[in-house]
Amino acid sequence: MGISESSISYLIKLLEEKSDVLITTHYNPDGDAIGSSLALYHFLCTQGIKSKVLIPNELPSFLQWMPGVNEAAIYVESTEVGNDLIAKADLIFCMDYNGLGRVKLFTDQLKAASATRVLIDHHIQPENEFDLAFSEVGVSSTSELLYQIISEAGLISTLTKEMAECFFVGIMTDTGSFSFACNRPETFVIASDLIRTGMDVERVHRMVYDTYSESRMRLLGHCLGSNMKVLPEFATAFIWLTMEDLEKYEYQQGDTEGVVNYALSIQNVAVAALFTERGDRVRVSLRSKGEFSVNEFARAHFNGGGHRNAAGGDIFMSMPETLAWFESLLPSYSAEIHKSLANYK
Ligand code: 5GP
Ligand code: MN
Repeated sequence: MGISESSISYLIKLLEEKSDVLITTHYNPDGDAIGSSLALYHFLCTQGIKSKVLIPNELPSFLQWMPGVNEAAIYVESTEVGNDLIAKADLIFCMDYNGLGRVKLFTDQLKAASATRVLIDHHIQPENEFDLAFSEVGVSSTSELLYQIISEAGLISTLTKEMAECFFVGIMTDTGSFSFACNRPETFVIASDLIRTGMDVERVHRMVYDTYSESRMRLLGHCLGSNMKVLPEFATAFIWLTMEDLEKYEYQQGDTEGVVNYALSIQNVAVAALFTERGDRVRVSLRSKGEFSVNEFARAHFNGGGHRNAAGGDIFMSMPETLAWFESLLPSYSAEIHKSLANYK
């Protein structure tokens, strides 16, 4: 665990010995998943090490401009290619996820693989499925952790503008543009190092946040205007989206990214949830302010997990059943949620 000298030496030894490197990340990849994976890919290139990035499913459009994205393989689009990549790899990096189940589509293949598995991640409670684990919960993002690993290895002088953009996207998206999970000064020291490569911060921000389609913006309006319930007695707000809503607003992968944070931005709301209907299940995205752990909540009730203040999961119920059930859980958490809110102010 963590970045010790011995884990760095072991990683360097692995990179010297192994010849077929695969970089994997989690299902529904976000900015940090893609940012850290591509930063590692570019870094390995600078070391003369060829690698391949394997992403489970499609990227949201606001990440499709990222340097190196076109060389990545997408598992849903070519399952056979993906299975081959996993089977022939002798070193597999697991970026931004804490258990093999999180890749969803090729979990069994990863479990069966003969490769050495290296975890680089910042989620709590990592599974015991890795040969080498860099697992740090105090950092803003996996991208920040990877930067630190490369730095500790004495190799950060290889930093290029392309790599910097990837790292920056990971840190920027996992901190909501430096608004949460960013109280460590190191995060800003790293950000300034990245900017020193000449990368265009304003452009990167624009590409990620100011590229909404009209229907995505209107979907957000619909969420806030018609599909949000605020429960002051539980300091909770939730938003729901049915398949009908998604169809009406021409939903594309990534269109609901960030929606749940609007519910959490309401004053005196300490817990926010977004419920999205997905065929046989309802996907939940949870956020909290302060010490109330939505990770624990998602683990207990939604077959999921994540971080203390941001977690997700799935439940196999209809939307009306899910919402009624969620509301029925709140009274037993009321005291804890209110305490969290009181201490947060
Ligand atoms: P989001 O709500 O943005 O999808 O996810 C918030 C956080 O929870 C992310 O850090 C993500 O990695 C984690 N997370 C989301 N869904 C799951 C899940 O089903 N299982 C686990 N263990 N973590 C999840
Ligand atoms: Mn992350």
